[in-house]
Amino acid sequence: MTTVDTEKKTLMNFIGGQWVKSNTDEYEEVPNPATGELLAEVPISTFEDLETAVASAKEAFSTWKKTPVPQRARIMFKYQQLLVDHWDELATIITKENGKNFNEAYGEVQRGIECVEFAAGAPTLMMGQQLPDIATNVESGMYRYPIGVVGGITPFNFPMMVPCWMFPLAIASGNTFILKPSERTPLLANRLAELFQEAGLPDGVFNIVHGAHDIVNGILSHPDIPAVSFVGSQPVAEYVYKTGTSHGKRVQALAGAKNHTIVMPDADMDLTITNVINASFGSAGERCMACAVVVAVGDAADELSKRLVAEADQMTIGNGLDQDVFLGPVIRDSHKKKTHAYIESGIEEGATLLRDGRGDQSPEGGYFVGPTIFDEVTENMKIWKEEIFAPVLSIVRVETLDEAIELTNQSDFANGACLFTDSAKAIRKFREEIDAGMLGVNLGVPAPMAFFPFSGYKKSFYGDLHANGRDGIEFYTRKKMVTARHAF
Ligand code: NAD
Repeated sequence: MTTVDTEKKTLMNFIGGQWVKSNTDEYEEVPNPATGELLAEVPISTFEDLETAVASAKEAFSTWKKTPVPQRARIMFKYQQLLVDHWDELATIITKENGKNFNEAYGEVQRGIECVEFAAGAPTLMMGQQLPDIATNVESGMYRYPIGVVGGITPFNFPMMVPCWMFPLAIASGNTFILKPSERTPLLANRLAELFQEAGLPDGVFNIVHGAHDIVNGILSHPDIPAVSFVGSQPVAEYVYKTGTSHGKRVQALAGAKNHTIVMPDADMDLTITNVINASFGSAGERCMACAVVVAVGDAADELSKRLVAEADQMTIGNGLDQDVFLGPVIRDSHKKKTHAYIESGIEEGATLLRDGRGDQSPEGGYFVGPTIFDEVTENMKIWKEEIFAPVLSIVRVETLDEAIELTNQSDFANGACLFTDSAKAIRKFREEIDAGMLGVNLGVPAPMAFFPFSGYKKSFYGDLHANGRDGIEFYTRKKMVTARHAF
């Protein structure tokens, strides 16, 4: 059986190296958000499906954990090559199910591949530490081991990159894995699993159970799953963290964002405009590192607002598979309606609507919101406080860098923040005083590469160890300390 039952386009689960049908009778349609065309039906799998997957992953763990680390790494190298070989195909699937344009999808595949490359360094990453003489004839050492079956729950906006923050590193360090992809973008995960199997991954090491809340709750309470990685919206991240930890699990839960970009009057305006446009409207604003608020300092505001609107007016909207399309759709019609409601609330609360994207459409149908820009936004407004996760940008005007930092730090979220300036003094002040985990200077989307942690805090992150980098390896391993006397 293949990953999809072709007649009904029903997605299969991947359990124990086999493509298996869920025993549910509940399915959800997966449309192409750019056209509304039905791509597949995703099963809302049952707890029974999850039980089968956990049993299979648990059994596979007993041998996988003992597989020599260089051998595990070799599979990652092969997997990396297969992902490179299928780059275009993977990017096409992402554009179809998510809507982001092909170039962005292509970049996302690169970000996923980089995670696999990092995980291929497992022999070095898994090393412990020793001290041969802690006392006379006594040595002590730290040894690193995998923890067991890991559960991964992912959002719709990065069908490749976000799962790749989790399973390659977890698996390379000797764990087995159950992925519950977003039910809104579930297709790519199946292709990732097929290619991993082709790379030589033993059965049961990587499993996929499609579904929604029931599978999440099953993962959070299952006694045979000691660790859970989650990425998604803030309320769900908080729920996942609290529920998972109350069941004694280690949990890392990456959550929502409201990223601010401060623009100083001395900024290079051409560079700033290009980067803010890309960061605010790229991927239809559906990025946890999107620029949602521009804080314009002093004289920067007038030129900035005028030029951002002019650029937004030029933006090509449509199906991301068409060449030259910049702005694709938002993920669902319900999300489009929610975005319209935010735009209405911005108007009601007194912000100045410089550009209204509600009328922008694509001839193919789909769920589009054009680039929308508000000026004179203040911190009491809903459009400033809440994550909209759509192509809606707010401009706040302030007089000084101090005010800009103070405003940014008032946000409940602390994922990313950027500064555009020519001043070394301003850059240092920004780095020292801003409340955000990922900072950008003269660039728009400061997402760290796989060998660094993805580092939000406040309501943008629940847990201790972040995804990726050394944090990732710490999260997916446990340590044993051995102290030994050699009395000879
Ligand atoms: P979401 O929270 O709706 O869904 C994420 C996952 O949780 C999905 O797999 C979904 O099935 C599951 N889920 C949703 N509601 C649930 C519930 N009530 N109970 C149990 N499980 C539930 O998020 P989304 O809309 O798919 O993704 C967008 C969000 O993810 C945005 O808020 C964005 O900022 C965030 N995000 C954060 C990062 C980061 O690094 N901090 C990265 C990517 C996305």
